[in-house]
Amino acid sequence: MVKRALFATGVLAAIVAGAVRFQAQTPAASSSTAGAKYDLLLKGGHVIDARNGIDAVRDVAIAGGKIALVAASIPPADAGKTIDVTGLYVTPGLIDIHAHVYTGTGERNSYAGDNSVAPDGFTFRVGVTTVADAGGSGWRNFEDFKDRIIDRSKTRVLAFLNIVGNGMRGGKFESDQADMDAQAAAAMALKHKGTIIGIKTAHYTGPEWTPVEHAVEAGTAAGIPVMVDFGNNHPDTRPLADLLTKKLRPGDIYTHMYSGLRNELVDDKPNPGMIEGRKRGVIFDVGHGGGSFAWRVAMPMVKAGFIPDSISTDLHITSMNAGMKDMLNVMDKCLAMGIPLPKVIAMSTWHPAREIKQDALGHLGAGAIADIAVLRLEKGRYGYLDMFGAKLSGTERLTAEMTLKDGKIVYELNGLGRPEWTTLPADYTNTGAPTWDATRR
Ligand SMILES: [Zn+2]
Repeated sequence: MVKRALFATGVLAAIVAGAVRFQAQTPAASSSTAGAKYDLLLKGGHVIDARNGIDAVRDVAIAGGKIALVAASIPPADAGKTIDVTGLYVTPGLIDIHAHVYTGTGERNSYAGDNSVAPDGFTFRVGVTTVADAGGSGWRNFEDFKDRIIDRSKTRVLAFLNIVGNGMRGGKFESDQADMDAQAAAAMALKHKGTIIGIKTAHYTGPEWTPVEHAVEAGTAAGIPVMVDFGNNHPDTRPLADLLTKKLRPGDIYTHMYSGLRNELVDDKPNPGMIEGRKRGVIFDVGHGGGSFAWRVAMPMVKAGFIPDSISTDLHITSMNAGMKDMLNVMDKCLAMGIPLPKVIAMSTWHPAREIKQDALGHLGAGAIADIAVLRLEKGRYGYLDMFGAKLSGTERLTAEMTLKDGKIVYELNGLGRPEWTTLPADYTNTGAPTWDATRR
């Protein structure tokens, strides 16, 4: 009896909703086809946009894949589609500048192969719209990487070009000084300007400065930053402080900042070279990975005020299921260490965009590329693991409700803007429109 009453109410509600929808949709549908001002309106969310100094409830209107307007109140009548995002955070699409996505070559034990992951499986579902591959390819194999991954992914994939011509194909390649050709690297970077956004040096085992020097030479010639994974620790021949205060230029990026593997922390304080380097304009990036983030390093550094410029995952097959899970997990860890949410968002959006000189990304100013993450901040009891499996407990967790790239939904968890199926015609098909929905082929 109770069940039947509920069923009847449900059907009645559906019929009523359907009728209302039908009446309401006729003019709305015509307005969307007959040129509504905006393709999509995200209404009532809390916008965090570091570049434009916004940390408040705002509506966001999108047209033609670009941000059209961010304002306190934008009428739904001006938009072909409106989605209520009240109670959620609306941020620029997240930018992960340290990931490994040059997969598919079939090469074992190689970041230009099996150690990398296909980006689309790891990005949109956590609000990431742009990743930079951190040195998987060098000038010899970049164009294979471009053809294989960059040109075929829905995720925006950029690249730090390895100073080693063969890229990250394994130890014997990565420590081959003869293959560190600054001119060839710079030429390839200039040929693919806007896609190759930096030069990488990584995993160098020897005591020489050659990889860093050649990377900086290439970066200078191509007008792009250098990202350094400082390889094996050689405190006598190439100390960290010399890298940060003498070898790198302002704007160059030191990744794996909380690894503790190269004396980043000295006597429970940031290495004075880190502080001096930051004063000179060297950038510090998380690059969590499978072996580059320890609470016993990160916590004292954050307590001393040495927080990241940018948050990145160092995503690859051995980090993705270990202490590091994904971009939001690394951001959660920063929240758990006490870094305020607006800063954490800035470190994952505008800061990395600025570091890789992509001014149309990482913010929601009018005319910016409409890459957007709609995030939910959940409260509860959570645990966050470092590279050793040591846990920090936390009370907050970010989840991605919806991700938009170029103004269109590419991922949604709960179908915020979608109709209940019971309200649709019996033979319904696609509920989206090409102006705002890119989840279906
Ligand atoms: Zn890496």
